[in-house]
Amino acid sequence: MIPIIKPVMDQREADAAARVILSGWITQGPEVAAFEREFAEFVGAKHACAASNCTTALHLALMAIGIKPNDEVITVSHSYIATANVIRYCDAVPVFVDVDPATYNIDPAAIEAAITPRTRAILVVHQMGMPCDMNSVMEIARKHDLRVVEDAACAIGSEISINGQWQKIGRPIGDIVCFSFHPRKVMSTGDGGMLTTDNPKWDARFRLLRQHGMSVPDTVRHASPQVIFESHPEVGYNYRMTDIQAAVGREQLKRMPEIIAARRRLAARYTKLLQDNLGIVTPYEPEWARSNFQSYSVKLPDRLDQRAVMQAMLDAKIATRRGIMCAHREACYAGSRHASLKHSEAAQDHCVILPLYPQMTEQEQDTVVKELKSAVLAQIGAVAAQ
Ligand SMILES: *Cc1c(COP(=O)(O)O)cnc(C)c1O
Repeated sequence: MIPIIKPVMDQREADAAARVILSGWITQGPEVAAFEREFAEFVGAKHACAASNCTTALHLALMAIGIKPNDEVITVSHSYIATANVIRYCDAVPVFVDVDPATYNIDPAAIEAAITPRTRAILVVHQMGMPCDMNSVMEIARKHDLRVVEDAACAIGSEISINGQWQKIGRPIGDIVCFSFHPRKVMSTGDGGMLTTDNPKWDARFRLLRQHGMSVPDTVRHASPQVIFESHPEVGYNYRMTDIQAAVGREQLKRMPEIIAARRRLAARYTKLLQDNLGIVTPYEPEWARSNFQSYSVKLPDRLDQRAVMQAMLDAKIATRRGIMCAHREACYAGSRHASLKHSEAAQDHCVILPLYPQMTEQEQDTVVKELKSAVLAQIGAVAAQ
């Protein structure tokens, strides 16, 4: 079986986890603090704060910027459902806008029409690792005085050029950036998340709210020669990362340059083998973006049966996924307010995500390409016969 993704882990991650397990301090402590410092340095942010996953990180971000019940947050429907859910956690209203059909990222031209007096923020997504058009988004946000949170769940190691300078996603262009370390992403801690910001007040908010709103972190209490009584000035959450996860994350972070280079090399090879073939559309990377290719997604010709192509691949022992979901099509978002989302729906219905992992051999990749072409050809025949 050729899987969609494989974690890149070996004895180094196992040793790191074992070291923490045997140390006597296993949840949020010195390893989390070290991981945060190293992560902030890697992406070029002033502050990094770890969380239990990207969903809780996004929730912390929206709370920190002050999203209140009935506020409106503009975002895309075409994303993993957590992007919309975190807006609802705040009893706020997600307002969905369409994506650009070339990049599958938020269409800046669609944002202004969705702004109302209740709009507070824009929650953008760097979908599948492809940076979204932050220059255009920030122009609109500044004009209307809106906060910007970046859902970079998939975008660790991706880069964007701002004013002619390349920088990593995670160096805040908006206000706060959130990452995921789920195994489906480019680096993993099992589960895990991270927030980056340049604003020390928000970083302090994340730290308070991720640990039950407790006035004194338990690491401080533990190290103090004086007895300290903590207080709880407001309702907080348990959104902590463990030290075991952080130790694994530190090892994963060291591998990033190698992992990103391998993903980009394999993505370029897919594109070379697939472009101008049977109407298959390969990913578009704007000249100001360098994706980590967390997912390599191809668009099938319009009339082909996506499920039949994916089934033929599965029969050939190749895992695929359909295009990214659309939240507005799920029962929990029935009745949500939005303009046309036709490009979002087309992306879900006509895209297929292909296997991509750093350990992938050229022979495995050739097999994927061969089976995809033969499945597409069979479906073109089926359409012609109708
Ligand atoms: C995976 C993902 C999330 C959720 O991340 P978790 O760490 O699983 O909570 C949020 N947004 C996007 C765009 C994602 O791909």
